[in-house]
Amino acid sequence: MIFTDTHTHLYSDAFDEDRKEMMQRAFEAGVKRLFLPAIDSEFTNAMLQMEKDYPEQVFLMAGLHPTHVKENYKVELGLIEVQLKTRKFVAIGEIGMDLYWDKTLINEQKEAFKTQVQLAKKYKLPIVIHCREAFDEVFEVMESEKGADLFGVFHCFTGTLEQAKLAISYNMKLGIGGVVTFKNGKIDQFLNQIEIKHIVLETDAPYLAPTPFRGKRNESSYLLNVAKKIADIYEIPLSEIARITTENSKVVFGV
Ligand SMILES: [Zn+2]
Repeated sequence: MIFTDTHTHLYSDAFDEDRKEMMQRAFEAGVKRLFLPAIDSEFTNAMLQMEKDYPEQVFLMAGLHPTHVKENYKVELGLIEVQLKTRKFVAIGEIGMDLYWDKTLINEQKEAFKTQVQLAKKYKLPIVIHCREAFDEVFEVMESEKGADLFGVFHCFTGTLEQAKLAISYNMKLGIGGVVTFKNGKIDQFLNQIEIKHIVLETDAPYLAPTPFRGKRNESSYLLNVAKKIADIYEIPLSEIARITTENSKVVFGV
């Protein structure tokens, strides 16, 4: 069985003490395809190092995370474009809008998101969306940019069935992680009404650890806890969940 973690921050300093062991646990759990979303240029070197250490298993994205959109965001966007010209990335992510932490830069966030969506289209890459308390704003941008060249993953999807269908209508897969295992996570109640071809698995490590690790540091080996929950919801064997969701990840990322 090969599982794909479509969203994991393996370069995070949360793993500085035991990164090798953590990676080993992921591989032993069958999690052998790991997609690393970018945050901002501060993390670029750490991401490149992960790719160097695990060239067969690790795939890099480029992008500016919405909570890292600051006054200098145009400089960051410039660096992303330089990166895209220089080498291959599997996606533009994670990008989007986050109005949970701070609303003061809402216009800059929207501008940065839109610009990066356009970059993805230019380079024929998928996008990986981060959306927190900003569904209307994110969908507004997607509506203005929709088309066959817009596709990707709606990461950490925690919306309603209606919002899930809307995301899918924009060629998005739903990234399902630890929240699906939470008692009050809600999405487990309607997920079986979404065809499994629209689902990819993720951990968002080191954040959002699934039950029974909720509140602790998350890591990619815990993807299995998410996969088991998905197997329950869809009443499909775990091995099939591994195969289908890995196949779905290949459809999106092309690797
Ligand atoms: Zn993330």
